[in-house]
This record gives sequence, C-alpha cells and structure tokens, in this order.
Amino acid sequence: MKKGILERLDAGEVVIGDGGYVLQLERRGYVKAGHFTPEAAVEHPEAVRQLHREFMRAGADVLETFTFYSSDDKLELSGNVTNITGEQINEAACKLAREVANEGNALVAGSVSQTPCYLKSRNEEEVKAIFKKQLDFFMKKDVDFMIAEYFAHGEEAVWAVQVLKTSGKPVAATLCISPEGDMNGVSPGDCAVRLVKAGAQIVGVNCHLDPMCCLKTVKLMKKALEDAHLKAHLMIQPLGFHTPECNHRGYISLPEYPFSLESRAMNRWDMQKYAREAYNAGIRYIGGCCGFEPYHIRALAEELAPERGLLPPASQKHGLWGSSLATQTKPWVKARSHVNTGKTFDQHLGDPCALRWQRLKINHGYRKLCLR
Ligand SMILES: [Zn+2]
Repeated sequence: MKKGILERLDAGEVVIGDGGYVLQLERRGYVKAGHFTPEAAVEHPEAVRQLHREFMRAGADVLETFTFYSSDDKLELSGNVTNITGEQINEAACKLAREVANEGNALVAGSVSQTPCYLKSRNEEEVKAIFKKQLDFFMKKDVDFMIAEYFAHGEEAVWAVQVLKTSGKPVAATLCISPEGDMNGVSPGDCAVRLVKAGAQIVGVNCHLDPMCCLKTVKLMKKALEDAHLKAHLMIQPLGFHTPECNHRGYISLPEYPFSLESRAMNRWDMQKYAREAYNAGIRYIGGCCGFEPYHIRALAEELAPERGLLPPASQKHGLWGSSLATQTKPWVKARSHVNTGKTFDQHLGDPCALRWQRLKINHGYRKLCLR
C-alpha cells in the first residue's frame, strides 16, 4: 500500500510534484496551441504515458492526470474534438497516470481547472455541475486525491473545492494568481483562507508566474492562514520561465507566449535555488507547471535529496554539482565540474545543504540512493 498524500505531508515528507504537460506536448506535436485541450490522452496515449514516465523517473511523487481544460464546455468551445467525448478523455487520462504511477511509488491526482462557464455566467449551480461531472469520472477510476488548479478567481476555486470534497478524497487547490491577488481583487491571503474553509487540505499557487514570484504569493497565503489559525499544507507549482516583469495577468500577456518562450527557460541551478527557497518557506509540496521539463523536476529532487533521503532514478545519469564533467579531457570544460550557481564544490562544503549532502553520501552511498 502506498502512503496517501496527507499521510506523506502530515509526516513532514517533501512531496515532489510533476511538471507541465500541455506546453511540452504542444512542442512534441500532440497538443494544439490556443485552447490547449488534452485530447492526446485518447489520440496519442503513448506520448502522454512517456511524459508521465519521464517525470516519475525524474523524482515526481505525484502524476497529475492529463485533464487540463477537459471540461465539456471548454472542449466544445475549443473545436478541437469532434468524435471524442470529455468522458473518454478523462477516463483515458486516469488510466495512463495510474498505469505509470504503479510502475513506481507515485500517487495519481485527478485535476480540474477553470471553466469558460464561470466567466460567461458566474452561475454557481452550472459551474458546480461541470465539476461534478468530471469528478464522477475520476471517482470511477479511483484517483488518490484531487487537485483544483489554475484558477484565476478564488470564488470559482472555492466552488470546485466544495464539489471535490464530496468525494471524500483529499483535496488540493492552487490558484494562478500573483501577490496582487486574484482577478476579482481578492488578496492571496483571503483566497487561501476561503479555500481552507471550503475544505481544501493543501493550498497554494500554480502556473502564470516564475518561482520567485509564486513564492511571494504562497508566503502571503501562509501568513493569512496562520493569522486565521487555520491549518493546511502549502503547495507550489510555478512556471519554468523567468517572468520578472509580469503582473497579475501572468506570462500569457508576454509577446513570447506561447511560441517563443525558450529564451526565458530556467536552468537546473535556478531550479535548485527555487526548491531550497520553497523548502525554507515551509512549503512541502513542491513541483512545477508550464515550462517545467523532467530535468527541472530532477533538479528539485536532487536539491532536496538530503531532506528526502533518496535520489530519483534519473540521477543515475547526472553527476551531482556538475561532477560528471570531472573526467572531461578539455581542461576548460573540466573546470566546470562541481559548478552550481557559480560556486565551486569546495565553497559549497561550507553550505549547510552541502554538509548534509556529504553526510547523506557517507551514510547511504550514492549508488544505493540512485537505485531506490
Ligand atoms: Zn501552467
């Protein structure tokens, strides 16, 4: 029996999330930009399965079902599907995530996201009916827990949480908002309080902005929850792109969105820094969203390996701190071995993290950890 998400978080474990699916599968030729709907779960299951595998191999403890934007109203609006139903997409996505998760120790999270119906009608009953229909598919496939993610309006996320709670499964909720608040002008702190009062056990932020900006937003949520004496686990799944100039509208307002974002991609050292800062902020569910590729997830898992006590299988092919360059014959390349954010490994030995790393290697042995 695998430990559930709340058992892991309640025990103080660090949970590594997976990365972004839609942008990555668009680049690989399986998703159409614009509405970014997930019909590939039915049309090209091998592509979705492979990306799930890569994220799990990189250290992800959770595989999210590839069901972003798979509500009936969004699928209809997109015009991307004619002979496939929302039910088929949701069910196929659950099957794929479960199949891969069962190859390792990962959990399956069913995911629902914002609906066009909310923007059009703001009708609670209609919006909740859409989530209920999706939830029924997820329950048939017995996912481990549910995530309401990518909500720009806290109100709609609260409605989603209220529906998802009826399943009896643990519920996480993440908003795609900035420190300025949601699109209705509600502050991150107030959003978090409302989500927890609605029953979410895990709250935080996903997508739209880079890790450092998302960290600020989650810190505001944390403060408000503490002030309200509410208990919840914190979660963060930001973009894998640098977006320092973006406001609450996020990266979709950049001229590079969605086809020219490559020059903004974060590197693995950026990701290690993000993982450490998220951990130091008290966040224990740490993953990524759009722009997060499997090697970014591996960087999170490697940075937090001292705390987690294990390395992911993909680290078998990655020398820590750039150490795999040590055998390079060209001295100017070899000089980059043990590079991390400009420091040499010796300088790192003064860092608390590097000291923990040393202990970890001595106590457990690097190879043994890799094989776990
Ligand atoms: Zn995203």
